[in-house]
Amino acid sequence: MVLMKIDYEEQRKRLVKRLKEQGIIKSKSVELSFLNVPREEFVWPDTKSQAYLDMPLPLGNTGQTISAPHMIAIMLEELDLRKGETVLEIGAGSGYNAALMAYIISDGKKEKYGKVNTIERIKELVTFAENNIKRTSYSEYVKVIYGDGTVGYPPYEEREIYDKIIITAAAPHFPKILIKQLKVGGIILAPIGDLFSQTLTKGRKRSDGTLKIEENIECIFVPLIGENGYNFNERLL
Ligand code: SAM
Repeated sequence: MVLMKIDYEEQRKRLVKRLKEQGIIKSKSVELSFLNVPREEFVWPDTKSQAYLDMPLPLGNTGQTISAPHMIAIMLEELDLRKGETVLEIGAGSGYNAALMAYIISDGKKEKYGKVNTIERIKELVTFAENNIKRTSYSEYVKVIYGDGTVGYPPYEEREIYDKIIITAAAPHFPKILIKQLKVGGIILAPIGDLFSQTLTKGRKRSDGTLKIEENIECIFVPLIGENGYNFNERLL
């Protein structure tokens, strides 16, 4: 049997070209992050050949997924990340989105800029994300934390820490503690809705602590499970 070697770089370039043509990738920073972070290093090994299909892929038997590239691109464009920013992600999954964000906040130069804290409630995925981030050399910018991200990081701390906060799981609402941990002028982004359908929702924090809300597209994510999410009684895995 002759095994064909997959040209991942070519597939990556084609995916980015398509997402640009569709008007989904708009900014240079998101484009460069997609071109430079190898998605094939973040998907579960048995789905590696499908890394550049524009669809979510299962992360082993964890019941969780790495989101579809177009969905990630839409979220990153909405988040409007800048070099040097401090970011909190709830739902590390594979670590792919965290690596893309690390690329943008460090301006691709791997200089000492910005920081991404990414939280995951499934231990197996914490190890998976950590290994993926290490292998692709983003560990300096990304800290993967095991815990319930709905209580913020550091947990329960009522201090404005983050320029941007992204929740990559379906949330019933923006957890109050996360709004407290967001700086004034900062953005919090999440799929907000019920367990069957959500609306990608962006909140920009005003100086009085309230959020100016903008709603984007309809989407479907796996649930945010935790103290300020769904299923309060479920424990960490
Ligand atoms: N951002 C990920 C990536 O790039 O691969 C994909 C995230 S996946 C769609 C959603 C993740 O959120 C799952 O891995 C799930 O275990 C995690 N999650 C759900 N509730 C959580 C919570 N309260 N705290 C931390 N992670 C949570």
